[in-house]
Amino acid sequence: MALFIENNYSPNFDFKKRTKSSIKFIIIHYTGMKKESDAISRLLDVKSKVSCHYFIKNNGNLIRMVPESYIAWHAGKSKWKKFISLNKHSIGIEISNPGHDHGYKSFNQKQIKSLLSLIKDLKKKFNINKKNILGHSDIAPDRKKDPGEKFSWPFFAKNNIINWHNLDLSKLKRLRKNRVNKKLEQIFIKNLYKIGYCKISNLSEKKSNEILTIAFQRRYRSQLINGKIDQECYLISENVLKTK
Ligand SMILES: [Zn+2]
Repeated sequence: MALFIENNYSPNFDFKKRTKSSIKFIIIHYTGMKKESDAISRLLDVKSKVSCHYFIKNNGNLIRMVPESYIAWHAGKSKWKKFISLNKHSIGIEISNPGHDHGYKSFNQKQIKSLLSLIKDLKKKFNINKKNILGHSDIAPDRKKDPGEKFSWPFFAKNNIINWHNLDLSKLKRLRKNRVNKKLEQIFIKNLYKIGYCKISNLSEKKSNEILTIAFQRRYRSQLINGKIDQECYLISENVLKTK
């Protein structure tokens, strides 16, 4: 699909150019503002100190706000595996959606189609691994919920664009809320670290585990987000680590 891209540049980026090989991640966001026009204005406003590379409007059209060769300011304080502060290494995509605080709604088909084409192009151009296509909530789980549980991770998995599990959903559902023992809980948390989630250092281990579990559920088991480790979560984590 040919993408309709309009240029409307944001002043919020690092002036120093980056190398092509430093780009390793794509981070997906929602705007979290009631009105799309307000979200656009904010990302273009020098005072807000936030921006993104691409903005996906409600009608599916794209705005390029920062060229890929510059660092945009979208991720904030963030961590994934050994990477700290993901802005340097990523392309940030904002999708217009009011978000959890203003009437969170499903992303529409035009937005999803545009995003699929955009990610395909970027993956190819920068040779981005599908394991490195992440939500803001994956890299900043203590602060962020976006793009949230209404984002169609399964659709992108079907298109072989992102890393997800390949387990049978109806079989999995039967394991939901089934408790696991302490040992499996510990393995689950270790699995999260292996996937890339990082311990939240300023919180107790218990609280950090709960927040990471919520972030994991938001992405891999969106039907129940309760921060509790059950058999379904455990099996998904094992499977995600195995998928190539
Ligand atoms: Zn975000």
